[in-house]
Amino acid sequence: MPETFKNFIGGEWAVPSTGDYFENRNPADWNEVIGRFPRSGPDDMTRAIASAKRGFARWSKTPAPLRGQVLQRVGDLLVERKEQIARAMTREMGKVLAETRGDVQEGIDTAFYAATEGRRLFGRVVPSELRSKWAMSYRRPIGVAGLITPFNFPLAIPTWKMFPALLCGNAVIFKPAEDVPHTGHLLVEVLIDAGLPPEVVQLVHGQGSVVGRAMIEHPDVPVISFTGSTETGSVIGATCGKLHKRLSLEMGGKNAMIVMDDADLDLALDGVLWGAFGTTGQRCTATSRLILHQKIHERFLKMVCDRAERLRLGPGLDEKTEVGPLIHDEARQKVGDYVEIAKKEGATVAIGGKIPGDKRLECGWFYEPTVFAGVKPGMRVEQEEIFGPALAVLKVGSLDEAIKVNNDVQYGLSSALYTRDVNAAFRAMEDLDNGITYVNAPTIGAEAHLPFGGVKQTGNGHREGGWEVYDFYSETKTIYVDYSGTLQRAQIDTYTE
Ligand code: NAD
Repeated sequence: MPETFKNFIGGEWAVPSTGDYFENRNPADWNEVIGRFPRSGPDDMTRAIASAKRGFARWSKTPAPLRGQVLQRVGDLLVERKEQIARAMTREMGKVLAETRGDVQEGIDTAFYAATEGRRLFGRVVPSELRSKWAMSYRRPIGVAGLITPFNFPLAIPTWKMFPALLCGNAVIFKPAEDVPHTGHLLVEVLIDAGLPPEVVQLVHGQGSVVGRAMIEHPDVPVISFTGSTETGSVIGATCGKLHKRLSLEMGGKNAMIVMDDADLDLALDGVLWGAFGTTGQRCTATSRLILHQKIHERFLKMVCDRAERLRLGPGLDEKTEVGPLIHDEARQKVGDYVEIAKKEGATVAIGGKIPGDKRLECGWFYEPTVFAGVKPGMRVEQEEIFGPALAVLKVGSLDEAIKVNNDVQYGLSSALYTRDVNAAFRAMEDLDNGITYVNAPTIGAEAHLPFGGVKQTGNGHREGGWEVYDFYSETKTIYVDYSGTLQRAQIDTYTE
């Protein structure tokens, strides 16, 4: 009998008001049920919000360096539980163990960064234009922050939101993706065991269109941070716009790697395999387009196909596996649909393009690593996010053309350039229209202490990670203190000596 899990509301583990549950299954073997999780209703969210408001009243008054100490303990516990969480994550999400260990490590890095930020969280003091007057700004907590996260980074992405939000003194409500509720549960356990005061964190499982929506529409949740698809982000953006909420959106990508004719091709080969087929292509920063200089096009395409064909598919818990399953049936179906679209548009399927025949894999959502050749700018497989192990290969005649192809999509998350020409590298760093550019490294590989996010339809101008995210989770208040004992009128009473 699989374990039945609860929400965390009002400072305790709580059954859902609906009495309803959904099953969470292993994508590498759909016969394995990981657990039953609450299919919560709007009432659960209302209770969570009321509780978070109480948590906020206390936590917002806790000095930031002490809040940082709690996050230090959170980081320590994540270190202790890294292997246990990584294994649970692979079981419910599918990606290989090396990657889920990396996912937890990103949470650890984010916790330790947040812990030190507790002793910084700088405001500014600047000279006033008037005498005997101080002018300064400082950061205040905002209130209850609602966090909605996707399935592909079940621990790292929630921590990118939760830890800075908490460090800034906000209470949080966490709505994990339906496909990865177990990792969400384990993360909240860590926070509680680390000594986060009651009611500062709430965990509400369930469908985005029910509990996510109830959170977004509630007036007592002034901050929303969402990572997920551009379609869902648009729905959330419309509601938050009407209600004047502070909103951070991190959405889809169609990231390209450019390989020039002077590149180290062996290095670029390792990079493209990792970028395109790591996490089974289910990364917002996945390399889904490969833009090749015509002089190396044939040779490099063959190198990619030869190696990609030999990638070992299997359950992520098997240390020999290189590519795990997709998250669910619908995701796999979507890759299959794009194979048909690619053929209709005149591209060729160089390798893959089908469900593997291997009996060992027949109860998982596996799909063969797929390479589309002969892709032209504007084709749907070149423009749309597939979110699976599929790579579209294009041929160009120059760096200018490569940059143009990279930029001519609606998304703008990440890009990569392989070259030995330093001038070309710097020009591309300036002209590639993305939030992140890698030189001689694949399109994936963000570090927790730098800003992360994309331009155009990928985001709405905010950043996660690094120092910038602390601006999002804090309100800047400006203070003037006039100790002159007279009325000094700004812009009117000026001093020239
Ligand atoms: P999704 O949009 O289907 O779901 C994301 C979350 O939104 C889930 O928790 C879901 O329950 C919730 N949700 C769905 N409908 C909602 C609604 N109406 N109101 C409120 N919440 C709702 O995305 P997914 O399939 O889990 O993740 C894949 C997508 O995420 C890809 O497009 C990928 O590029 C993107 N992503 C982006 C980044 C980034 O930083 N830019 C990082 C990871 C993933």
